[in-house]
Amino acid sequence: MKKLMIVGTVALAVACRPAAETFHFDEMVYSPDETEFRLFAPSDAECYVVVGTDSIAMTLGTDSIWRATAQGDRKGDTYQFLVNGEPSPGVFAKAVTVNGEKGVVVDLRDSDPEGWESDRPVRRLPQDIVVYEMHHRDFSVSQPSTRYPGKFLALTEPWAISHLTDLGVNAVHVLPSYDYGSVDETRLDEPQYNWGYDPVNYNVPEGGYSTDPFDPLCRIREFKQMVQSLHRAGIAVILDVVYNHTYDIGHSNFQRTYPDYYYRKTAGGEYSNGSGCGNETASEKPMMRRFMVESVKYWVNEYHIDGFRFDLMGCHDIETMNEIRRTLDSIDPKIFVYGEGWSAGACALPAEQLGIKANISQMPRIAAFSDELRDALRGPFSDDTKMGWLGRASYDDCEADMGGLQTSIKYGIAGCVAHPQVDQSLVNYAKDAWAAEPTQSIVYVSCHDDMCLTDRLRASIQALSSPTGDESLIRLDLLAQTAVFTSQGVPFMLSGEELLRTKHGVHNSYESPDSINQLDWSNKERYPEVFAYYKGLIALRRHHPAFRLGSADLVRRHLEFLPSDDTVVAFRLKDNAGGDAWRDIIVVLNPAVTASAVTIPDGTYTAVCHDGVISEEGLGTVSGPTVTVAPQSALILHD
Ligand code: CA
Repeated sequence: MKKLMIVGTVALAVACRPAAETFHFDEMVYSPDETEFRLFAPSDAECYVVVGTDSIAMTLGTDSIWRATAQGDRKGDTYQFLVNGEPSPGVFAKAVTVNGEKGVVVDLRDSDPEGWESDRPVRRLPQDIVVYEMHHRDFSVSQPSTRYPGKFLALTEPWAISHLTDLGVNAVHVLPSYDYGSVDETRLDEPQYNWGYDPVNYNVPEGGYSTDPFDPLCRIREFKQMVQSLHRAGIAVILDVVYNHTYDIGHSNFQRTYPDYYYRKTAGGEYSNGSGCGNETASEKPMMRRFMVESVKYWVNEYHIDGFRFDLMGCHDIETMNEIRRTLDSIDPKIFVYGEGWSAGACALPAEQLGIKANISQMPRIAAFSDELRDALRGPFSDDTKMGWLGRASYDDCEADMGGLQTSIKYGIAGCVAHPQVDQSLVNYAKDAWAAEPTQSIVYVSCHDDMCLTDRLRASIQALSSPTGDESLIRLDLLAQTAVFTSQGVPFMLSGEELLRTKHGVHNSYESPDSINQLDWSNKERYPEVFAYYKGLIALRRHHPAFRLGSADLVRRHLEFLPSDDTVVAFRLKDNAGGDAWRDIIVVLNPAVTASAVTIPDGTYTAVCHDGVISEEGLGTVSGPTVTVAPQSALILHD
């Protein structure tokens, strides 16, 4: 290792004004004549930046920011900040060396793929979005015709694009795609797997998903190629952002540049652990808030990102989330923001200040995941063996709270807004309707967390493991997704559910091997009826505005639940809801192994979904007032 040459002296601390008012986390500003470095670090620290082999002392400005300038054209040089001897690439590196250890001086225009200047974002009204949540490696690692297994570039390939567009989803939510720590980028020839909830450099794409993590521009260019390709297909790109914690404290770039600034502590002086990962960041502090705002803005401006999913949003404070919303609005109000409205432990901030589900009404146009419908359908998150409404209708011999589960499903179908026919006191979790608008509710029955849908059904319903269990498994799977896609929330599905995905019963597969996490693409031929149903369901939603009314008032006006016993959910979207060409749409969900009869408004209807088959052209006519719904299936009618 070359000996570093120390030049200059360290400035003494001076009276400073708060950096958050002026600073924009531009830690490296390149020009062919010189490169300026800036860093937020304690005013009594000793700060250097090592550029290539030159160590340059930084000086403290009156705005609390340390600065240094490297003369000459430094493009391609690596750099590291040294704060009291602690090396780091800073907190806002935009290009890094392998494994994200050092920053790299780049001109980002060199990373733009051909045609990037004409790339246009794909942004829709929230009620029109259909989210497909995927992990890069799960999706492509075992796809037989891919050239780029497990890489960003897999999403530029025709097989991938046609699968997504054929299915009909219009937004891909990628699991953490920033630089994370748990995959060693120098050993990519060996199988390694992680979801990536261990951020290292928040503003650089992950090297493990690039074809060459040693080339600092490669990951940036390939990420942009992925975005470009999805945008060309009309598919939005949503990033999973994990600002709420870092892998650990000691090695984090936050801690190495400004010890203890970015983290919350408890009253007793311990690091608070609202993330369940050993620490939680302090979004309420001005520079952490600024960091989050600047970071999302950077992803939008540099990478043309269309939306953000905030991991453990319940760890962040409301004011920060609202400032993020305002910032994104100033770019494009259609940039979609949602998050997990909970934390994974107690946070060192009062609950009334946190971005939890119960406070969503104070965060206009930010959505949260609804666990009410999810758990009512499949069973509680706390116990994989417990059945939900789907199983209890037929397989539970105990006293079951079918009424409460049925009400929770209705609440989810109404988009988690207050509805006169939903008795909130019976809903499983939310005793107050937390969403002000249905577009604040993400509706889903499975995601990367917990078991995927088929595994959960098998784990909770013993009968599905019998030799004849597969037929019921498929029926209940399709029925569950029918509840999701006919609801007024923003529908969300886990990648691979359309291929009847299994993770072989693994509940938390964050570091499981490919054999657990990979999609089995041969299932597309093995279960063509499953893919066809998912596709038909998504198309039905896309073609019918009645399913995506977008406002609570419209939901209350047009969504009417029909009387039924508590083993069935039946509802009507009436009076050309949302301008729909169909005057009335009736949806009946029947989880029982026997057919169920329900009473509907008298009339003659066309069936478009019956007994596990969807066809918008029609599957025959049905007359009221009594209709029969086949076992473990949905019936959808229109007049
Ligand atoms: Ca990495």
